[in-house]
This record gives sequence, structure tokens and C-alpha cells, in this order.
Amino acid sequence: MEFTDRVLKCVDCGAEFVFTAGEQLFFHDKQFKNDPKHCKQCKAKRTRGSQRVRPETRTTCSECSAETTVPFKPTQGRPVLCRSCFQKQQPSPPAAPEHEQSTSQD
Ligand SMILES: [Zn+2]
Ligand SMILES: [Zn+2]
Repeated sequence: MEFTDRVLKCVDCGAEFVFTAGEQLFFHDKQFKNDPKHCKQCKAKRTRGSQRVRPETRTTCSECSAETTVPFKPTQGRPVLCRSCFQKQQPSPPAAPEHEQSTSQD
């Protein structure tokens, strides 16, 4: 069986991508019946999509100047702490009060 490169359209972004002969051979080998539906970029996005993609902003810790990434856009003027400084800043949590037990049973 001979394969030739085919141009497919990504169902996600509509971009055209090449389903190469090599890839077709691979699909044939694996007995995949369906053509790939997504371009490489979307496929990569989908693979990573399982973990929620958080916007990571590279910044420096205002405490120790270590480079760190934060999962939010740091506001100008607000101190940004790296993970360890942030933990140092947090006072050890007071013993959590016991949760009031709800006795109502309706
Ligand atoms: Zn795509
Ligand atoms: Zn720090």
C-alpha cells in the first residue's frame, strides 16, 4: 500500500495540516481507521488540556528576588512572593475550630 501526503483540515481551528505518508503508514500499522482531525498545535493543546492551563507569569519574588512564576497577573505595586516566601509569610494556621456539627436532619 502506498501513501502520499494528504492535506487535511483541522476541525478545531480550520488550519490545514499535512497528514504525511509516514503518518498514514503509522496509522495503517496501528489500524487506526480515522484520519487525524486536529492539527499538531491543537493536538498538543488537547493533550495538555487535561490539566487546566493556567496563565503563568514570570516574575521575581519581592522578598528574596528569586525568579518565580505565578498563576496570575501580578498587579503593579503589589508584592509578589515566591512559593517559599509565601509560605513563610503565612502564619501557621490556628488550630481549626471544630466544625459545628449540624444536628438538623431534614
Ligand atoms: Zn488546529
Ligand atoms: Zn522569595
